[in-house]
Amino acid sequence: MKNERTLHGRTNLLYEEDAYLNNFTAKVLDCIPFSALTRKADENLKKESLFAIELDQTAFFPEGGGQSCDTGTLNGKQVLDVFKEDGKIWHVTDTPFSIHENLQGEIDFTTRFQKMQNHSGEHIVSGLIASLYGYENVGFHMSQDVMSVDVSGVLSQEDIEKIELLANEAVYKNKKIYTVYPDSPDEMDYRSKLDLCEDIRVVIIEDIDACACCAPHVKNTGEIGMIKIVDFMHYKGGTRLFMKCGHWAYLELKQIFDQNKEIMKQLSAKRENCAEAVNKLVELNQKKKEEENALKNQIVDLYLEKLQSENLFFADKLDEIQLRRIINESVKTSSGIVAGFVGSDTDGYRYIVSKNEQAADIDLKQLAKTMNEALNGRGGGSDKMIQGSIGALKTEICAFFKKY
Ligand SMILES: [Zn+2]
Repeated sequence: MKNERTLHGRTNLLYEEDAYLNNFTAKVLDCIPFSALTRKADENLKKESLFAIELDQTAFFPEGGGQSCDTGTLNGKQVLDVFKEDGKIWHVTDTPFSIHENLQGEIDFTTRFQKMQNHSGEHIVSGLIASLYGYENVGFHMSQDVMSVDVSGVLSQEDIEKIELLANEAVYKNKKIYTVYPDSPDEMDYRSKLDLCEDIRVVIIEDIDACACCAPHVKNTGEIGMIKIVDFMHYKGGTRLFMKCGHWAYLELKQIFDQNKEIMKQLSAKRENCAEAVNKLVELNQKKKEEENALKNQIVDLYLEKLQSENLFFADKLDEIQLRRIINESVKTSSGIVAGFVGSDTDGYRYIVSKNEQAADIDLKQLAKTMNEALNGRGGGSDKMIQGSIGALKTEICAFFKKY
């Protein structure tokens, strides 16, 4: 009964019997152009130059149930994809092999083992959520270094912390993980998602969970290592959890520690005081900003005072908002035209020119044109206000404005 169920089409699934097998020999049953299949090729690959190989047995897990396929080699040639189509398992390579040829297969076990750690960790977490809250796993996706799990109900921060703690305790207990192929699945109690896989294969985590699944798992929960729920969000009436287990969790922690080391140095703070030190820094920054704004306002006021007797001013440190404010205010009391220039002789100037009724006879649009031509400038505007930039010296600008 069991052997029958570890077959997919004509291929014996070695990973179902031994998830730790990384070297195997297999006979080629078929080799066809990849283009004969409907499966899409990775965008970096040319489908026309690739081949799809069917083997009598394989240790490569094909893509399925939200988990990507294994990577590795056949006779030293890179296996680019492994998938199920037309009731068969296909291995994609850039080299054709002869039918009946014996091949040496090798899977990238480092990556496979990390996926096993994560997938088994996910079963623990989903099992706990099902037993504690009655929520079902309704979505699962595993990418290169993180996996996401969608459950059918809303979980709070507190719930997540509780689940995470219990999941890690399940790791410490080093419970056995094994698979069964129930003769009467209806009589067995297990979690299941429809279309997960065609045969009922149930992965049991002793005393913790039973779930229909087609993927390879570790033998004992201790091998999973740390289970970390790195983030979660409420999604489509349920919750999406982002998780990392084992080596992925270790890498995440290492990255956080490396970053934290830099932060500790910059803040001269101990690790446990970093958050407090950052809060202080944010407060200080806020205070500085307020002080800066107050100073800017004072500067604007000083310019306004000065402009009661002049209609042309220069500044090197004002920003566009301050410049506009000065012009808008001073034009109310000026004798006609007001022109403000921000910048320097070396970097050039930004300008705003405005006028009131006393300068009704001056056409500002025309002035912009003349000024742009005379002072190597760009810009324009309305008859009320013009603005732009100038690539001329202060003395040249002063000379130009003498006539206004
Ligand atoms: Zn699973």
